[in-house]
Amino acid sequence: MKNVAEEIKNSNFCIVLTGAGISTESGIPDFRSKDGIWNRYDINEYGYIQNFLENPEKIWKMLKDMILNMEKAEPNKAHYALAEMEKSGYIKAIITQNIDNLHKKAGSKNIIEFHGNFTKMKCMRCEREYEYNQIKLNDLPPKCECNGIIKPDIVFFGEEIPRDAFLKSFQLANKCDLFMIIGTSCEVYPASELPLIAKRRGAKIIEINQENTALTSVADYVLRGKAGIIMEQLLNEIKILQ
Ligand code: NAD
Repeated sequence: MKNVAEEIKNSNFCIVLTGAGISTESGIPDFRSKDGIWNRYDINEYGYIQNFLENPEKIWKMLKDMILNMEKAEPNKAHYALAEMEKSGYIKAIITQNIDNLHKKAGSKNIIEFHGNFTKMKCMRCEREYEYNQIKLNDLPPKCECNGIIKPDIVFFGEEIPRDAFLKSFQLANKCDLFMIIGTSCEVYPASELPLIAKRRGAKIIEINQENTALTSVADYVLRGKAGIIMEQLLNEIKILQ
């Protein structure tokens, strides 16, 4: 922990990649853990854009479930610790695979939403944009005035990453000298490629996770445990070094 705190303090450009695991302590299930979303909804039936296009009503039932949960969730200690580290200048950006809006709620500023954000919605026909609280969820799928189907602005499997988020993330991975990966299984491409790019350019990798992941073997430091507890301890260690 102390060594990791020193690495963060001495880094020139530290960035962070977060995944669903940073939000489980806020009551939002991840995808792949034992209580994860894919244990309730089969990934092959619900995870692909083709599934949404073929049966939007069915997929919207899952989305409604997720949205009602995310809407009431609050950031946890890990989100707040990252916001404070950014404010103090220790981290420069957060690339998040999460769609739950919790980094923004915690006060982080430079956030790249790699897979979108559940609070934004768009009509698939006329592209009119909506905030999630303008959408009525009693009659699914929700429809626009033009009768087009409304889709949350989130990335399903088989869809492209938003161009701006994609370019910015790869620029950051090429630029950073320290890369923290928190609560992600590192199994979803292309986000999983970002730490590898940074590593090839000489950056050090810190992994914070409850379990081993696809990228544990490339990490220079591994902190095992709950993100909320570890991030709070890490922030305290950094303060002691000041
Ligand atoms: P994942 O489910 O594949 O992996 C979650 C990882 O977090 C696992 O490695 C698990 O061990 C770890 N983890 C769980 N709880 C933890 C905790 N308290 N502390 C530390 N580690 C913990 O999720 P992923 O890697 O983000 O990738 C899958 C996709 O899931 C992403 O594309 C994301 O869009 C989507 N997703 C997002 C949310 C959200 O917005 N909160 C929720 C579910 C899924």
